[in-house]
Amino acid sequence: VTDRIDPLRRSANMARIRSRDTKPEIVVRRAAHAVGLRFRLHHKELPGKPDLVFPSARIAVFVHGCFWHRHSECRNCSEPKTRVEFWRAKFAANVQRDRQACHDLQQLGWLPIIIWECETEDIDKLTARVSELRQLRHTRSRFQLSSI
Ligand SMILES: [Zn+2]
Repeated sequence: VTDRIDPLRRSANMARIRSRDTKPEIVVRRAAHAVGLRFRLHHKELPGKPDLVFPSARIAVFVHGCFWHRHSECRNCSEPKTRVEFWRAKFAANVQRDRQACHDLQQLGWLPIIIWECETEDIDKLTARVSELRQLRHTRSRFQLSSI
């Protein structure tokens, strides 16, 4: 069997796959499946490229890493001790980008929902968030039907 993809290209592909299928996201997908919630993945055309979307209810879910997306007052949201200015600027840009994506989604009639990485580590919290999603989807689908 010949490998048609050169090693450099392949490792780039692997890196992309890995960054897309981060663990907390997989945990959320499983939990959603477990309660029978159907969703679509990685909606590229929507602001911020949400991780899971419920198109009929216009709900866009982001599964955010607590460190990169700065989950305030979370134990995973530590401050790096070196290159402080660099990290501060990087984090500020991430937070600003997230805020903008949520704002843009709302302008388009979508409801942005953020599930934090730490919530996926606690099965009770995750179950609560997924149940909340199911309820929201139900309510918003009905609302959108009745508003036509
Ligand atoms: Zn957190």
